[in-house]
Amino acid sequence: MADYDAIVIGTGQSGPALTRRLVSAGWKVAIVERNLFGGTCVNTGCTPTKTLVASAYAAHLARRAAEYGVTVGGPIGVDMKAVKARKDAVVEPSRKGVERSLKTLKGCTVYEGHARFSGPKEVKVGNETLKADKIFINVGGRAVVPPIPGLDQVPYLTNSSMMDVDFLPRHLIVLGGSYIGLEFAQTYRRFGSEVTVIELSPRLIPREDEDVSQAVAGFLQDEGVDIRVNSKVVGVKKEGNDVAVSVVADGKQSQVVGSHLLLGIGRRPNTDDLGLDKAGIATDPRGYIEVDDQLRTNVPGIWALGDCNGRGAFTHTSWNDFEIVAANLLDNDPRRVSDRITAYALYTDPPLGRAGMTEAEVRKSGRPALIATVAMEDVSRAYEKGETKGFMKILVDQETKQILGASLLGVSGDEVIHCILDVMYAKAPSTVLRRAMHIHPTVSEFIPTMLEDLVPLR
Ligand SMILES: Cc1cc2nc3c(=O)[nH]c(=O)nc-3n(C[C@H](O)[C@H](O)[C@H](O)COP(=O)(O)OP(=O)(O)OC[C@H]3O[C@@H](n4cnc5c(N)ncnc54)[C@H](O)[C@@H]3O)c2cc1C
Repeated sequence: MADYDAIVIGTGQSGPALTRRLVSAGWKVAIVERNLFGGTCVNTGCTPTKTLVASAYAAHLARRAAEYGVTVGGPIGVDMKAVKARKDAVVEPSRKGVERSLKTLKGCTVYEGHARFSGPKEVKVGNETLKADKIFINVGGRAVVPPIPGLDQVPYLTNSSMMDVDFLPRHLIVLGGSYIGLEFAQTYRRFGSEVTVIELSPRLIPREDEDVSQAVAGFLQDEGVDIRVNSKVVGVKKEGNDVAVSVVADGKQSQVVGSHLLLGIGRRPNTDDLGLDKAGIATDPRGYIEVDDQLRTNVPGIWALGDCNGRGAFTHTSWNDFEIVAANLLDNDPRRVSDRITAYALYTDPPLGRAGMTEAEVRKSGRPALIATVAMEDVSRAYEKGETKGFMKILVDQETKQILGASLLGVSGDEVIHCILDVMYAKAPSTVLRRAMHIHPTVSEFIPTMLEDLVPLR
């Protein structure tokens, strides 16, 4: 039995950062990792996918080179082994950095293996039993494997196994037309694969506003991605070396045959083999650990951070969870989950930067609001760059003049959104942003200009 002040399970986005804070406060900490240090973001999520997105963007721009007056000798090729090697060269130092920093951290002991609770203050890792008064769960999640008839009989890819792909799939079928699926879809289309996206909902990324979904579908289709919405997958089977997916749409059954199948239909928390029952930790029906506004579980002395608590599904929400827990425990600062404003990006090209409420949510709230919209075609920097797809819209509360939300679908939308987000955090009226002098020529300079054209949301 090894005694610690704290045990951290998982080395995702919050675990290592919290460990460093606790150790620097003099705590004796054990941290457990069963697989790759750095978790999803570093190894199979944000970092590697954004390197692939970058390679795909380079291929896309090279094909458009002539539009910019640039001559490229011959057709554009994509060397998939080199693409993967570049991805690995970015990922590996990150993973090793997390591992090294934890293993050399004084006051921290690293255990490699699968952790399971054996009681409310006890965790087993292999033959070792660790004991601590405080336990922090940062176990993340994994791809959902849906109960589709025949799926157990065919090879399929997930975001994790996609990381080993160093060849060009002839025809990639992507199940799921949401954030993860669409990034892979556009990326592989740009690498040269034929790509079909199958989505159950009537439109892609159904949590976004309809105009955003339509615009994203439009530019993906322009690039040759075959999009099937309103389509239910009812079975899969092998057909020679290919995979045949049976789809029902509008009451009619059809088949999509491709060389590879990627599951991108959601995530589930890694809480099913954690011995939560031994500690009496409550989960919701989907397995997410229930937490309060300061990320405490129902069991005193146990917290859950990151994707496994269902309060966020992003690296920045997991990091923010670390900040909330550390502030409450060490800084006497009562930070809360409800302090944060929804913010995320979809890394298609152009990307979508999102903050706060969607237009649909504002309408549903019934509050009087103003809206401003601009097409990226009218944004000079986008025009100069030759990247004019998409549009930006901002919603403002008619009475308080505070910004309620924004969807920026356009070049640099993932960066520009932060000038809106920060004004929202400052709870300042949109007039502050309207009067700010922004730099020319940038996409951001259009945000103050747009706010001059607010009209009532009807
Ligand atoms: C394809 C893809 C792309 C993404 N892109 C983005 C993006 O661009 N931006 C963004 O913000 N988010 C993105 N995400 C989401 C992001 O990766 C996660 O939200 C983020 O990694 C936070 O995870 P976490 O801290 O909850 O845990 P994770 O990073 O999932 O880490 C959990 C760790 O716990 C370990 N573990 C689990 N169970 C045990 C156990 N019982 N014992 C010991 N160790 C255990 C796991 O091995 C893992 O290392 C993406 C996700 C995917 C899948």
